[in-house]
Amino acid sequence: MENAQESRGDRQLSGQERQNEAELLRGSGILEQTHSFIVEYNFKTKQCYIDPAQCEHVYGDWQKEKDQGHGDFKRVVLKDDLTVVQDFFDFSDLKAGERRNMDARFYVKAHDYEWFRVSLLCYGDAAGDRERVLIMFTNAEQELETVRKLKFLLAKDPLTHMPNLDSFIQMTGEMLRSQPDSSYAFIRMDIDKFRIINQMYGTKEGDNVLRYVGVKIQEWAGPILEYGTYCRISSDIYCVCIPADADDVGELIGFIQTSLRAYPLKFDMVMSFGVYITCEEDRSGHVPVSTLMDRAASAQRTVKNSYVQHIAYYDNAIRKKEIAEQMIASEMKHALETEQFQLYLQPKCDMETGKMIGSEALVRWLHPTQGMISPGEFIPIFEKNGFIAELDDFIMRKSCQLIRKWLDEGSPAYPISVNVSRTDLYNPNLLEQIQACVKAYDVPHDLISFELTESAFVSDNMQLYNLARLLQENQFHVLMDDFGSGYSSLNSLREIPVDVLKIDLKFLPPSTDDWRGIVILQSIVDMAKQLGLDVVVEGVETLEQAEFLLSIGCRTAQGYYFYRPLPVAEYERCLAEEPKGIGQRRIEEQQKQAMESTGFGLQK
Ligand code: C2E
Ligand code: CA
Ligand code: CA
Repeated sequence: MENAQESRGDRQLSGQERQNEAELLRGSGILEQTHSFIVEYNFKTKQCYIDPAQCEHVYGDWQKEKDQGHGDFKRVVLKDDLTVVQDFFDFSDLKAGERRNMDARFYVKAHDYEWFRVSLLCYGDAAGDRERVLIMFTNAEQELETVRKLKFLLAKDPLTHMPNLDSFIQMTGEMLRSQPDSSYAFIRMDIDKFRIINQMYGTKEGDNVLRYVGVKIQEWAGPILEYGTYCRISSDIYCVCIPADADDVGELIGFIQTSLRAYPLKFDMVMSFGVYITCEEDRSGHVPVSTLMDRAASAQRTVKNSYVQHIAYYDNAIRKKEIAEQMIASEMKHALETEQFQLYLQPKCDMETGKMIGSEALVRWLHPTQGMISPGEFIPIFEKNGFIAELDDFIMRKSCQLIRKWLDEGSPAYPISVNVSRTDLYNPNLLEQIQACVKAYDVPHDLISFELTESAFVSDNMQLYNLARLLQENQFHVLMDDFGSGYSSLNSLREIPVDVLKIDLKFLPPSTDDWRGIVILQSIVDMAKQLGLDVVVEGVETLEQAEFLLSIGCRTAQGYYFYRPLPVAEYERCLAEEPKGIGQRRIEEQQKQAMESTGFGLQK
């Protein structure tokens, strides 16, 4: 080792500019990767080389101070470490081949010091006399930081050994910053119905599938950072970021899909993919990687669990939807304070007589510039951001207020059912809030009832069961909303205590050529009767539907054919009108048809 250095040193002496080992090291670029600088002192020539990088690492310019003849440790070393440093640099008995190490605090700025590791090696000449000493200063704190960063970068997901989300974000950010002119594709992938694989084959097999997908992604993308980055975000969700080349994106998706199909499992595994291609604006470096990933996720949501389409690109339509969602979220609080949310009531009526027997409370957002926004647009957003709890409370309060008003006026008061969002089920104070509100307006419990909906998640149904039981114990009526929607199961009727089944024709449309549908509907109605439950059919839009429902023993309906959701004043007005039974409606319908067939209807 020493020989090699000596021979390199000889080469230096034979005509090249660099005069010593320290300069050679600096010139090699090796030190650039470290937080180090070097100093070399030649005992024979009495020359001292100070690495120019010294100024970047520690306080002051040692070369200048030396040239001016007033170099002093006191200025650069923390007082506590002065003795150690002075001993270290006492070369009076330093011998050739000797090594020394010390840790000391050097100033990096005027009043800020950091730990440095200093090592020294003394070289000898051919005769074994000491010739020169090479001293390396390494900033130990920075070096530790680098190690920490590297460890962080290589942080792995324990299941698939792919990088984890944090390291993906870090690496991808660095990759995008290092290629500011390039466009990248974020591809987010998610196995459809992965839960079912776990349920059918066990979590061990589920884990195998997850590992397999990880292996396939790595197989396609190659070593991390060489071409792109990838990670498993969580459970069955992965993300890949590669240069935006349509062929590559298509190839990767095709490869993963084919690989999944080849996996030996009697289950048709399908993945959905969301792709976001970075644009000029993203390349400024100000858009966080997580935002770019969110866009791929938004695209992916549009095809998740779709039977026909598995790939979606983030486009303008999605961007617009996101902006609309942001608008909704940013305005919701103000809208509630300024009563932009209004209570509408949709009557439930006895189809035979046409008499109203109650109503459902439905919220409407009357936006000052956008007009009426339908609940379908904002409820899912409020369910996600938690605002639904406040809104449901508001609607319940308005409903209780209204009932109190009717009672105080001596007007006929019919029950109102309010919707309880699935996410409300996790509110441990919900029952207390309901009781407090009902008590505040002194509303009899048979005038306010609650519509609950089942969820796809079994754990939610435990909460649903608890709430339904508590409501019933407090003499409130419980309606099972959207029965037949696919979420609801016949089995749950055994467990969840309810008083009324609401069947939505949207989910079970009766038509004369669909005898299976008719049999199912009829059976549900029969079953409900045997269980002692009332039935309300929602979504009744035609006379034929109403007649059919009556023929199978259903009397109560809520639907556009009878009434649309109405503002409170209009609801009250309708209540005062003479009800129109099915018989009269049939006659009117026949008259209308007769008019139309004679051409009168058209002339009008
Ligand atoms: P839902 O609880 O199933 O409410 C019934 C929906 O069916 C209402 O839609 C109603 O206008 C509509 N509908 C009634 N009759 C017919 C018909 O004959 N044909 C058709 N096509 N539709 C009919 P809306 O008011 O747009 O509400 C949609 C959903 O938003 C509601 O479904 C409910 O889940 C939710 N929602 C509405 N208001 C509230 C609320 O205050 N709180 C909560 N948590 N959810 C609400
Ligand atoms: Ca409802
Ligand atoms: Ca419903």
